[in-house]
Amino acid sequence: MKSKAAQKLQDLHYFGEFGGVNPSISDSSTYTFLSAKTMFDTFEGNTEGCYLYSRHSSPSNLYLGEAIAALEGTESANVFASGMGAISAVIMQLCNAGEHLVSSRTIYGGTYAFMKNFLPKFQIKTDFVNITDLKAVENAITQNTKMIYCEAVSNPLLEVADIKGLAELAKRHEIPLVIDNTFSPLSISAAELGADIVIHSLTKFINGTSDAVAGAVCASTEFCLTLKDVNDGAGMLFGSTLDSLRAASILKNMRTLHIRIKKHSENALFLAQKFQEDGLTVVYPGLKTHKDHQLMKNQINSQYGFGGLMTMDVGSLEKANALMELMQKENLGYLAVSLGFYKTLFSAPGTSTSSEIPLKEQNDMGLTDGLIRFSIGLDNDIENTYHKMRHCMKKLNLLPQKKLVLA
Ligand SMILES: *Cc1c(COP(=O)(O)O)cnc(C)c1O
Repeated sequence: MKSKAAQKLQDLHYFGEFGGVNPSISDSSTYTFLSAKTMFDTFEGNTEGCYLYSRHSSPSNLYLGEAIAALEGTESANVFASGMGAISAVIMQLCNAGEHLVSSRTIYGGTYAFMKNFLPKFQIKTDFVNITDLKAVENAITQNTKMIYCEAVSNPLLEVADIKGLAELAKRHEIPLVIDNTFSPLSISAAELGADIVIHSLTKFINGTSDAVAGAVCASTEFCLTLKDVNDGAGMLFGSTLDSLRAASILKNMRTLHIRIKKHSENALFLAQKFQEDGLTVVYPGLKTHKDHQLMKNQINSQYGFGGLMTMDVGSLEKANALMELMQKENLGYLAVSLGFYKTLFSAPGTSTSSEIPLKEQNDMGLTDGLIRFSIGLDNDIENTYHKMRHCMKKLNLLPQKKLVLA
């Protein structure tokens, strides 16, 4: 599949107000009006292009929003101070007390905690399902269900959601399909595949320099305006507003997103193949052995590859910790959560990013304690990286003995 959205992103251009190649950064929290009447109209939402107060909107945030909307091919996008700011606003906007959502059980730990522990305070209940089982998803839908929620490629198990199938199901039940596409920007065009609302943590690949926390919601202009409504918009009223300075720096980083994603994918595929040949337990959607490989292949924009995330199960938490510490010592990456950095990042999800999920549920979904999640970096010589990583594994006796083939 070839995405129209990526082309839209390339075609987008801005001039700064003084002809600069980058738009000027808006450095104001408030804006003056020449007439009192215009101020009133702006509060009422009747004056396009007028700024009122920067929690509502600011030129820098609007520029970034435009770029994110182009990336996903949606009508509009709002930016937020974090991915969680975006996720919580969407859910609180769409769900009232007594209502219900159906979510994938393999999702980001923070999202899981929000649904499982926080939403019940408002009598909003979540059913967690195996998202790759469309029947299970449909069976969980009730009259009170307000959305189907999942990640395009799930954290940390790298399960792939059948977005077209889920979109068809959501449409039939007249509820929105909300997709968190943080793991697969450009690779997967979730809105083109039928998602109604696409969420990103910009903190990860889209910014790519691990120096900022931000989020975005991509949707129809109508929904984006609803989120911003001064009277009852969750985006506006929860107040997780992105700072203009950060919006400007993220926009500049987005210009290299396509190059970075291609390289992350190329490097991850190389390592996944090599480690699998070595007999290690590797999960990567680009491997033919991945259970959702064919689905992923059919729904990605192939030029961007299968993404930069890979997992490896080394048998136990002790071994996982030892390997991560050794790899960090050998300068092969950092023992850190998050993803999308130029350097490889690794962490054991069971004790970090998914620690919000109770142990029993971790077991049920196949999240083992020897699992290491890798966000593969932009290494120039990945073959060299492979040999060094392999050396670490050998040192710790993690490489399975090659069976002798008798001639
Ligand atoms: C990091 C992450 C989030 C949360 O984003 P923040 O910017 O940290 O708030 C949500 N979903 C996924 C898949 C993530 O990886």
